Amino acid sequence: MGASEFALRRNVLARRLVEHELDALVVSFGPNVRYLTGFTGSNGLVVVMPDRAVFFTDPRYRIQAAQEVDCSIRVVSGVMLLSAAQYLRRMKSKRVGFEKSRLTVEAYQTLKDALPMRSSLEPVVGWIERQRAVKSPTEISAIRRSVELNSRAFEQAAKHVRTGMRETELAAELDYRMRRQGAEGPAFETIVATGARTALPHAHPTSARLVHGALLLVDMGAMLDGYASDMTRMLFLGKPGARIKRAYKAVLEAQLAAIDAVRASVPAKAVDRAARRVLAGHGLANAFVHSTGHGLGLEIHEPPRIGKKEKTPLETGMAITIEPGVYLEGFGGIRIEDTVAVTDNGCEVLTPTSKELRIL
Ligand code: ZN
Ligand code: ZN
Repeated sequence: MGASEFALRRNVLARRLVEHELDALVVSFGPNVRYLTGFTGSNGLVVVMPDRAVFFTDPRYRIQAAQEVDCSIRVVSGVMLLSAAQYLRRMKSKRVGFEKSRLTVEAYQTLKDALPMRSSLEPVVGWIERQRAVKSPTEISAIRRSVELNSRAFEQAAKHVRTGMRETELAAELDYRMRRQGAEGPAFETIVATGARTALPHAHPTSARLVHGALLLVDMGAMLDGYASDMTRMLFLGKPGARIKRAYKAVLEAQLAAIDAVRASVPAKAVDRAARRVLAGHGLANAFVHSTGHGLGLEIHEPPRIGKKEKTPLETGMAITIEPGVYLEGFGGIRIEDTVAVTDNGCEVLTPTSKELRIL
């Protein structure tokens, strides 16, 4: 990633500060710090001002920060927020923004106590997150590489699926294959669920064994160069019965309808509605218990939410998942998930993996 892309992002944010008459914004949430500075470490903070940005970190990250961060750097010992506050005092910043949904009450209090009485702390919500929702071409290619790696890991691990294998073993195999392909790790805890456990949308892998004649759900994502991927596929050990085939067809039809509905300027809820309408037509409306998808990028879950009430219009450059599912207690669940990139007149499905029910 070119250094200028980070500067460009800070400039967009700086204009926002001016519009809202803020003298500075204190950013400490990891993915936001990374987005604005390129810093990949765990302890960093950036103070963005209309005409400059100053990055703070601790001595462990001296070398790394110098390699990654392209704005001015201060390596400080002790509480970073106090150093930031000291800097803000020196700059005579009066209206200081903070990330309302990211700062702990304790951190807020520290900052408040360290700033002069005449300064005010102004809550800011979702500014950077909204900016992050629309990806640059560089980011879309990073997501594409992550998606492709994830799919390769899935194909390799799928060859090892056997009756008698434990869910945890398959999850380990999937994670191992991701790592072997060069991933930093899984983007979230890999979900492997078999039989009736597939009806739990966020099942943790257990010691349950894969048995013949049962559904198998795999939901996995990789982290590559800081960017997440996300995919769900269904497998079946043996010959699926009519009920499973019917439910699978319905979910696939809903997923394709939702993908069809994706386009710049369409409200996110219209995509959700497209999936819901198909499932309702199959009498499965009540079995679809979550939203149709979510944005992804530096985090696995980002705005926009592709949900019933989300009015946010989709924009070219957004990366979102499309993942309708049905969950029937005692029977099982089926979900199909791809990652797509929104374009002016539709979307590009980034996930290359086949969506046929995989019969093993
Ligand atoms: Zn997923
Ligand atoms: Zn997802």
